[in-house]
Amino acid sequence: MGRTLNLREKLAILADAAKYDASCASSGTIRRHSGDGRGLGSTEGMGICHAYTPDGRCISLLKILLTNFCILDCAYCINRRSSSVRRARFTVDEVVRLTLGFYRRNYIEGLFLSSGIIRSPDYTMEQLIQVARTLREVHHFRGYIHLKTIPDAAPELVAQAGRWADRLSINVELPTAEGLARLAPEKDGQRIERAMADLDGRIRESREARRRFRNAPTFAPAGQSTQMIVGADAADDRTILARADALYRQHGLRRVYYSAYSPIPDAHPSLPPGAPPLVREHRLYQADWMLRFYGFARSELEAIMPDGLLPLDVDPKTAWALAHRQLFPVDVNRAPRELLLRVPGIGPKVAGRILAVRRHRTLRWADLARLVASPRAVRPWVATPDWRPTALLDRESLRALVVKPRQGDLFAPPAA
Ligand code: SF4
Repeated sequence: MGRTLNLREKLAILADAAKYDASCASSGTIRRHSGDGRGLGSTEGMGICHAYTPDGRCISLLKILLTNFCILDCAYCINRRSSSVRRARFTVDEVVRLTLGFYRRNYIEGLFLSSGIIRSPDYTMEQLIQVARTLREVHHFRGYIHLKTIPDAAPELVAQAGRWADRLSINVELPTAEGLARLAPEKDGQRIERAMADLDGRIRESREARRRFRNAPTFAPAGQSTQMIVGADAADDRTILARADALYRQHGLRRVYYSAYSPIPDAHPSLPPGAPPLVREHRLYQADWMLRFYGFARSELEAIMPDGLLPLDVDPKTAWALAHRQLFPVDVNRAPRELLLRVPGIGPKVAGRILAVRRHRTLRWADLARLVASPRAVRPWVATPDWRPTALLDRESLRALVVKPRQGDLFAPPAA
């Protein structure tokens, strides 16, 4: 029997264990740290992560597991039953105290709480609920709470969780049923789907009730999300995006998180020895945004991944534009919003600003350059009265120019 861990030790273990959950992690950045005493800051840190509230604010969350003990043995998970990882478990009261302590010191604005499964799914879910309920009822905590939901827990417990939490999530874990059956045979893919459908139904009911009665109780007002591990099985990007698209449509998910598989100690032999390139995860997020916010159909994305994988050297929107040069340049003074959104470097916000400005006057290149984050990225694809990139679009080597923006002299602003 080992000695009892103090709170700081538990926090070190259970914040580290939570870092594998991508549900509120920053994605696509490079890994840096200052653990060698040189420099300041780290992109690898754990314990505090960022999330977006329903009104679009970015907030910091204490991101921890209630425990990393688990009765299941999912092959890809560091906390699986057969793993030799150091274990810890918080009490409900400890999580409550930590959350309030960090909140009062202004370190966080909310809590992201997940857990390994202990004793039973219901018991674990009850513990998670107990944390959220104590924070809300006893301490009147108004901060953001995201609870991971155990798919096998009783529906009444899930209903309670939604009463106290802003967001609930259930991880589908792997993109395909075959992958789940092979790497997490104790999990039931159909039950996970049913639990998500049930959550969706409750969230919709609650929204509808609140439309009619202002005081109707809320249920997970920030909706539900899920996470898929990328690169632990052979599922390609086409399969992953097809699954994500189906989840958005069928269960009204607010967000699908893609988490690049990280090799773990004592890994199961069926797992790949290395991690997929981190940029793959980033490309999936970009493609996901194209589906949700830019009006692209899944078949259009599939056309740019003939081998089933998104290109890594160029973002998917630029890859699509390169394959459809005949649609460019887009006249920013005339194009409808749907076409503006097809331009690399123009997102929904910039498209909205372009539409607003052009109601009053004609946009010239300098006007557009002020509206976009990267004039260089936009330049090959748009036309204004004083700029038309026809020669650029006709170049065989446009892809190389777009991928390697160093050769940017061609993108220099027009002479005044
Ligand atoms: S149930 Fe969750 S914590 Fe337990 S082994 Fe599977 S993925 Fe890991």
